[in-house]
Amino acid sequence: MVRQNGSIEYLPGTGQAIPPKDRPGCHTNTVPEINLRDAREDALLASRAELIRAARITMAGQLAASIVHELRQPLTSIVSHGGASLRWLDKNPPEIEEIRAGLREMIQEAERAGHIMRSLEALTTNSTPAMNRIDLHETIRYTLLMAKNKFEKHGISILLFLDAEAACVQGDQVQLQQVLLNLVTNAVDAMSNIITRPRLLSISTSHPDADHIEVCIQDSGDGIAEEAKDKLFDAFYTTKEGGMGMGLAISRSIVDAHHGYLKVTANKTHGSVFHMILPVFDSGREPVSAA
Ligand code: ADP
Repeated sequence: MVRQNGSIEYLPGTGQAIPPKDRPGCHTNTVPEINLRDAREDALLASRAELIRAARITMAGQLAASIVHELRQPLTSIVSHGGASLRWLDKNPPEIEEIRAGLREMIQEAERAGHIMRSLEALTTNSTPAMNRIDLHETIRYTLLMAKNKFEKHGISILLFLDAEAACVQGDQVQLQQVLLNLVTNAVDAMSNIITRPRLLSISTSHPDADHIEVCIQDSGDGIAEEAKDKLFDAFYTTKEGGMGMGLAISRSIVDAHHGYLKVTANKTHGSVFHMILPVFDSGREPVSAA
């Protein structure tokens, strides 16, 4: 049999020559159907293997990209605290208290890098997040503390409306922190060029219904173009110079793994609002999905 691509396939078959007077030079031939099926299955298996190989390469690339993205901040911080501590050490006499503070910061940042690596590992091995009782209000405050330098550098004012009465959820502290830090960092980035109005970051919590808590992170940036809304949560979608486009993709997968929902809407005046909706903690109940 000559295939469409020109290759020749030999198939066993049984046949009978047709008497020349009817159709000269012709045979009736029976090719066991199994052979054709085998060929089709071979082709299917080959293309499936190719797909799996391509998916594995993509996943490895995504993993590498997300590790780089998440580790950049603590590593940069370690280097800058190390440099500062060395300069304090060169003073005469050395500023011991400043050096001590610098070293403490370095340890804290290195521990954060370790946490990030462990939670990334958990994400990629498909294991479910550690389900502890987490106070979201505390996590929000801690996240704001982590981003303090960014707020000062970009002149961002913070408004906090932590009004939810039941602020505890079941989840992984580090992963939820990662989501919040990512949303806050994006909000700061979105406002860093704004000069005609105040740069306002507002974080509020409320209960959309009895079973859920909603965290809204609102900025006064330029907002999100209509055509970009669908792509925002895709891996590698970025509009930033040097951006990785992994933050929102990872954030959404973390929130999904917590039976929650992450979405974006336009702010009433300027900017955008990211909404993270999670089931509230209830020790005696299975988590209720927020989607
Ligand atoms: P990165 O920060 O590396 O670009 P993200 O996945 O966190 O990756 O964000 C993807 C894109 O979504 C950003 O490049 C930006 O265009 C858009 N974006 C995210 N948050 C905001 C925001 N608060 N305001 C406007 N655009 C945003």
